[in-house]
Amino acid sequence: MSFHFQEFLSKEINLLREEGLLRELKTIHGAQGPWVDLGGRRTLLLCSNDYLGLASDHQVTGAFTSGVEEFGTGSGASRLISGNRSPHEGLEKAIAQFKGTESALLFNSGYHANIGAIPALFGEGDLILSDELNHASLIDGCRLSKARVLKYPHKDCASLKKMLRENSGCKKKLVLTDGVFSMDGDIAPLPGIVELAGQFEAVVMVDDAHATGVLGPGGKGTLGHFGLEPDCVDIQMGTLGKALGCFGAFVAGKKELTQFLTNKARSFIYTTALPPALAAAACKALEIAGRDQCRRDRLWENVRFFKEGLEKLGFDIMGSETPIVPIFIGDPVKTMKISACLLEKGLFVQGIRPPSVPEGKSRLRAALSASHTMEDLEFALEVIENVGIN
Ligand SMILES: *Cc1c(COP(=O)(O)O)cnc(C)c1O
Repeated sequence: MSFHFQEFLSKEINLLREEGLLRELKTIHGAQGPWVDLGGRRTLLLCSNDYLGLASDHQVTGAFTSGVEEFGTGSGASRLISGNRSPHEGLEKAIAQFKGTESALLFNSGYHANIGAIPALFGEGDLILSDELNHASLIDGCRLSKARVLKYPHKDCASLKKMLRENSGCKKKLVLTDGVFSMDGDIAPLPGIVELAGQFEAVVMVDDAHATGVLGPGGKGTLGHFGLEPDCVDIQMGTLGKALGCFGAFVAGKKELTQFLTNKARSFIYTTALPPALAAAACKALEIAGRDQCRRDRLWENVRFFKEGLEKLGFDIMGSETPIVPIFIGDPVKTMKISACLLEKGLFVQGIRPPSVPEGKSRLRAALSASHTMEDLEFALEVIENVGIN
């Protein structure tokens, strides 16, 4: 019997379609901003992670274009060959200063950072305790590591403690968590995790993709939010692609950590370095994110206003504590239907389905930005109310 590749593809695609799980790309035209051109129609964008509106900020785009003038487009090689330029190093210094750590190392994306750092640091014979709602890139990092992985119930420190105690014979252990959970928008119980890790001599890694620029004083992230010192956590990861409006990511911690990863993280070693101009732009974005508290205040004011509006309308926002605001629907087909209805009325909120979220927990997921005005959000609430979700 022969294998028909084309048949296999069609069958799998049809299966996805039947289950309401087929994903398709939407094209946005023209400029980035709270209002975008989607299929020729002016649409309010309520599902971008550009939390501070920095992706279209003139200072950031200016740093990008002058970076291109100075350095060209591509870097030409990996960092360890000939791709390392002054903006990369300048950005790493700025990130370390921003996070209050000794050192920081750039990766080409948050996905690269997670699938690189975790397998470099942990392997066979080691144990990883991972929150059950951790991001897919952390899960993939765990899989690549070949360490034993135990999932603990979401944000449940009592279960984590029990698992740490039961495995206290294992020497090298990692507790792994999102700082802000990307699908639910809630915050990890970091003080409890840090305390347990100290007690059971476990390493802690926090994925601050959605917290960088958003949470804590100066937008320093989840540690700052809880008033924890930067060296409470061994490994902090963050992305430059969300609140910082650029692209790329970092791991921050002690000098030895970044030196080790420079030597061992395969996703750092075997890939072309980020364009230097992008590093220059991210450096500018980081500077603005650090000092411009007004932007962050505007973001949080928007969050408060929008959540109050949704709660008044009786929606379940699933315990969100951040600018990520899920609206619980449950069924994937219904979720995508509602998302399509909203889009017809000029509001883009993406529907999220398995495997991004557990079975039966499909949802709309809104993300707010400092660049949204109150009128924008009033419009969004009105459209959501009128589409008749409940
Ligand atoms: C977006 C995200 C990532 C990936 O970061 P990119 O820079 O977009 O690759 C990693 N972890 C979490 C929790 C995220 O939400």
